Amino acid sequence: STHNDEVDYLVKQGIKSSRTIEREIQRLNRIENYRKEFIGDISHELKTPIFAIQGFIETLLNGALEDEEVNRDFLKKAMRNVNRLIYLTKDLMEISKLETGELKSEIEEIYLYEVLHDIIESLNYKAEKENIKLIVHDFDKNIKVKADKNQVKQVLINLVENGIKYNVPNGKVEVNVFTKPKQPERVFVSVKDTGIGIDEKDIPRVTERFFRVDKSRSRERGGTGLGLAIVKHIMEAHGEKFNIESKPNKGSTFTISLRRLDPVQV
Ligand code: ADP
Repeated sequence: STHNDEVDYLVKQGIKSSRTIEREIQRLNRIENYRKEFIGDISHELKTPIFAIQGFIETLLNGALEDEEVNRDFLKKAMRNVNRLIYLTKDLMEISKLETGELKSEIEEIYLYEVLHDIIESLNYKAEKENIKLIVHDFDKNIKVKADKNQVKQVLINLVENGIKYNVPNGKVEVNVFTKPKQPERVFVSVKDTGIGIDEKDIPRVTERFFRVDKSRSRERGGTGLGLAIVKHIMEAHGEKFNIESKPNKGSTFTISLRRLDPVQV
């Protein structure tokens, strides 16, 4: 097995201390448990949409096909579940690459304004569809940060989409870019919503993969339970901070920090 190979390798390398080997075994056990848990979680997540699709197709084949209206309705429902599987697969591939370190952040000097500019149209569209007002407050167009552009986009998309998904009718999502005099080398981006908020006890858990406060609400909104886990990984890969403040029935504010280029002298 992998463990024995690893122990053999360590012994060959002349590392004979049993403590070292013991620790290495523990590390490998942790990774293996983590993998097992991950596979268990994935199978569980795949089951729901797959069984739903099976159910719709079965009903159609058992005679519902003859009924034009039911026909269309069931195919639409099946399609929605196929789409769920597609999102899920996409997010799973992303998170597994982030977790194994396969996906390295490509740190570049980028304009924060450009990042927001690239994603705002599709986010506006989503907000409008849900009757949510999305406001991006003005900020210095010349602010440059050192970050992976696609990853920062992904982070902001996930946060704004959550702000839309977990909001109340006619709610608001606000994006703020700001600096703190005491940290001139950083720039902060916050995404604030007027939504349902998160219970204090759940705040530390929302970045765990597949954790959702309300499973049915998340599913109904096309959630995969992986969005915030991805955000957390990306921010860690950047060596930056990710902070959550939230009050049930008041709303939430998610804030990330980024390394600023040419920090202003304060
Ligand atoms: P999901 O795909 O379910 O949205 P996420 O990882 O993005 O998964 O979020 C995990 C859970 O955290 C969500 O299911 C929801 O319960 C909670 N959550 C995330 N963002 C917000 C928010 N802006 N307001 C309230 N709850 C949130």
